[in-house]
Amino acid sequence: MDYSVLAFYVFKEIDKPHREIERWKRFLVEKDALGRIYINEKGINAQMSILEKEASDFYEWFWGDERYKKTEIKVHRSPEQAFPKLTIKYRLQLAAMDSDYDLSRAGKHLSSDEWEKMLEQRDENTVILDVRNDYEWEVGHFQGAEKPQLKTFREFPKYAEELKKKHDPKKTKVLMYCTGGIRCELYSSLVKDQGFEEVYQLEGGIIKYGLEKGNKHWRGNLFVFDDRLVVPISDKEKSEVISHCCHCDATVDTYYNCANMDCNQLFISCKSCAEKIKGCCRESCVDAPRVRPFQASNHPKPFRKLRFEEKVKLHKNQPNP
Ligand SMILES: [Zn+2]
Ligand SMILES: [Zn+2]
Repeated sequence: MDYSVLAFYVFKEIDKPHREIERWKRFLVEKDALGRIYINEKGINAQMSILEKEASDFYEWFWGDERYKKTEIKVHRSPEQAFPKLTIKYRLQLAAMDSDYDLSRAGKHLSSDEWEKMLEQRDENTVILDVRNDYEWEVGHFQGAEKPQLKTFREFPKYAEELKKKHDPKKTKVLMYCTGGIRCELYSSLVKDQGFEEVYQLEGGIIKYGLEKGNKHWRGNLFVFDDRLVVPISDKEKSEVISHCCHCDATVDTYYNCANMDCNQLFISCKSCAEKIKGCCRESCVDAPRVRPFQASNHPKPFRKLRFEEKVKLHKNQPNP
């Protein structure tokens, strides 16, 4: 337990973002820190891991800045670095999102306590909206949340439109949640645009809820966009595994990238099937021209030849095995 894995975001005007990027680089390059930090004029979206004993230096530096001092940081522990490298860069979109969003029209923020209460009091007019991708839902989600029907996350505006066809916006309470809260910040106004009046969002997302409430009303584990891939939402409780090997249906939640480099699909597999089929997502990939040798591991890491986001995109373009 030597590393702290941090997740946080800031919505504040950043004057001269490129200069800010240089400042972050200067500070973090010296440290044992890796991660993915996006900065633009509108704010920061960061996921990083840092040696535990250096984390307090970071907090002091970060919160010491007037602009960031009220920012909440969600922290997990990890025995090793969770990211393969340190990327600090300008990105037009802080989270995968093409359309414009209106932060002033975000849904009502719920604390973990309030969220828990709302889940317990829900009726047939309540919709629990999982604002993530289907492969994230697959390994864990709140009880009663439907699997998101999205080919890519950029289709969310269309998804919000569909929601209106299935549920009366005037009568329906929408409870939205995502991994760390940022996607809900950006997407809740789109749900409101469809006429839904009662829109609520879980503040701090699943990560904060897990730290505060453990597995209550949650099933499974949490998909994360770093080397750990799938983690429990609570450090204290044991979690159940709810997903299945795509080859033999055994109950597992280990993700692999297909060893066929031209496929590279993310799939869930048990260890013995992965070995048997040489790390491929399906039989036809085993004989493909570019298959990398399979290395058995208890904790397979995402293959990094492609950028992770590109792989996910690729995965979304493949039919399910
Ligand atoms: Zn299997
Ligand atoms: Zn494949």
